[in-house]
Amino acid sequence: MIDNADNPWGRRLHDALTFATFADSAYPVTPYASVGLADVRPDAPDRLDMPDVGDRSASGVLDKLQAAGYVTARTVLRETSSQAYLSDGRTVTAVRVLRPFALVGVEYRFSREANSRAIKYGHAYADQWEITDRSYIVPTGWYLVGETGDYVTDLVGVAGMDGDPDGCVFEMEGFGASQCAAGCQSCDARWLAYADSWHFDADDSDADAWDFDDADDIDETAGTVACPACGTGRVGFDIF
Ligand SMILES: [Zn+2]
Repeated sequence: MIDNADNPWGRRLHDALTFATFADSAYPVTPYASVGLADVRPDAPDRLDMPDVGDRSASGVLDKLQAAGYVTARTVLRETSSQAYLSDGRTVTAVRVLRPFALVGVEYRFSREANSRAIKYGHAYADQWEITDRSYIVPTGWYLVGETGDYVTDLVGVAGMDGDPDGCVFEMEGFGASQCAAGCQSCDARWLAYADSWHFDADDSDADAWDFDDADDIDETAGTVACPACGTGRVGFDIF
């Protein structure tokens, strides 16, 4: 599993899934699409192209993204705790992102007046709403999503894959992968980022630290960015 996680985009999908499990409502949009308050009115008819994909679990979010045509997902491993003699069941899902997307988080609230209407008529729309946040862009490609738990599942991790992960051997431990190494082939500068951080600190080199968000010329197919140290080389990633 760890050996096969070979691009940094797993972290993007991980961030987006976490985003959608915490947000009040989360709407998928195409990258850089502008979304205004009018687009997320509480009383607007449901939009097939922009459904609320928020859910309590990552697999619930993936189901909704699949229904909206953004991803395909298939279960490649499912073991209950009794089958595997584990304290928790585990599930691995192979996900293919067909269209790049970002998630827009929206919070809806009811004023006292809207609350009274809801009580009086049995239904009312929220009358206050705001766009709270926007996730990173999730690039197209293959991903493995690991979850544990038999009935209620927890997201353990996401790995970005170079191709269909069919036939891979899965080590659930690998989903806890917490380090991402970055290195430039031209100037040999090396960095490390820990946990879910996108901040890269120099590793055995005197290169300056940098943040992924500030990286230039992101090549989402090759999984590389322009080297912030030498400016000419390409930085690749290794997740372990
Ligand atoms: Zn370099």
